[in-house]
Amino acid sequence: MRIAICGIYGECSTFSLDVIRRDMFEVLRGDPLLEHYDWSGRLGAIVDDVEWVPLTRAHTGAGGQLDPDFYDEVFATVAAELREAGPVDGVYLDMHGALKVLGRGRAEERFVGMVREIVGDGAVLGMSMDPHGNFSEELASLVDVVAVYRHAPHIDRLETRDRAVTNLLEVIRRGVRPQRAWVRVPVLLPGERTSTVFEPATSIFGSLVPTMTELGLMDLGLWCGFPWADEDRNAAAVLATGDDAESLVVAAERVARAYWDARADFGITSPNSGTWDEGLDFALAEQPRPTYLSDAGDNVTAGGSGDITWALARTLERDDVCASGLRFLFAGLVDLPTLRAAMEAGTGGVLERAIGAVVDDRYAPAVRGTWTVEELIVGVYGEGVVGAVLRDGAISVSVQSHRQRFVGGTDPATPAFAMLGLAYTDVAPYDVVVVKNGYLFPNQRERSGSEFMAFTPGGTDLDFSRLVFEHVERPMFPLDDGFEPDLRPVLLPERGPVDGPLRAARP
Ligand SMILES: [Zn+2]
Repeated sequence: MRIAICGIYGECSTFSLDVIRRDMFEVLRGDPLLEHYDWSGRLGAIVDDVEWVPLTRAHTGAGGQLDPDFYDEVFATVAAELREAGPVDGVYLDMHGALKVLGRGRAEERFVGMVREIVGDGAVLGMSMDPHGNFSEELASLVDVVAVYRHAPHIDRLETRDRAVTNLLEVIRRGVRPQRAWVRVPVLLPGERTSTVFEPATSIFGSLVPTMTELGLMDLGLWCGFPWADEDRNAAAVLATGDDAESLVVAAERVARAYWDARADFGITSPNSGTWDEGLDFALAEQPRPTYLSDAGDNVTAGGSGDITWALARTLERDDVCASGLRFLFAGLVDLPTLRAAMEAGTGGVLERAIGAVVDDRYAPAVRGTWTVEELIVGVYGEGVVGAVLRDGAISVSVQSHRQRFVGGTDPATPAFAMLGLAYTDVAPYDVVVVKNGYLFPNQRERSGSEFMAFTPGGTDLDFSRLVFEHVERPMFPLDDGFEPDLRPVLLPERGPVDGPLRAARP
């Protein structure tokens, strides 16, 4: 059977001033795309009779809104490739679900709609997604099988893709589409409240597989949606996939109800949280070191621009912090011009300059200092220098070229973006490490002695009262409260017979 592969993957905050452009994408097609997935290695004999048709897949992490020219380019490329490819039995779509194109909405719906229009109703569409994406009824209606991560941090990326493709192949082989029950849950919570490492998310996401097994479903997925894109489609959602409509409705409603009922219990997924000043007080107190402070409002893993200097500026204003003797590392400030200046100056060189606030100076201007270049950081994927550690007194700042979270070594949640620099420097000399992400990732937590998540301003502000939502459909918890939603699942319309070239060739 012939299976095409394509996708456009990313997460966009409309509250961030950053714009994601082509240079932040990894674009793969042809053999390199097939090598990337290694389906034979991962899935074995079940893909022996598959003729893969690797089209274009563009992949990035999180950022601001997407450059429309690049979206149009990928859209047109995939459309042309699909038309050229001829009939296919199915398409595997590798998507995130929270793309927001500057000036436009419904990026995934339009992309998948284009694919559906070209391949026709006879083909089967399988998709993998991120639970921080938005899964609208329109998007759900366009595809046949969808697998979504069940863990955040997403340690199950590869297994989720495997599941999407396995179910896609199964539907094509048996020639009968499954039925689907979809339900929208009017709750928009950030990943910093719904990490599956903490309750109640652990139990709710943990119930998906037992419920599937109990009710004999093909798949059961829960999406939290993406709160930092202001679009009408944004909400949590549940999809149950299988062959017995009654079981699907029971399963979808059960998960939707559990999520809704727990909505007020999703606390900040850090043992300590509060304002930045409270975070500094926490750091000043006796703590196991290093203390990790999350500058969560400028979270580059959720769309923050990564260059906001508000937390750094506020820290320098605090005399008690400056006098404490604690050594701070502000890790991962995105500032390419300063990085270039540091490379030019070399290790030991001194820069008199203001750093940060390159694209976003709404909260604080660039921070002046006399910065000694302590270290040039070489990327872990052989892409040369990707960052530099600068020091002025007790404050060190690692600047970096790309909007990537600060990591050390490798961990299961770290995607291997060959083209993007992942900056790493030893945290041992520091008492306090400030990171531009929200919840700590596994290898950050491993290195941290203590942690505090701070509600700082920026494109991923955890204090929703500081953000102005204009397009999100209301009522929506936590923007609104005291309403009762309709959580009855919708059975999505059936699309008719599976009728790809494989089946057409059968006698
Ligand atoms: Zn995610």
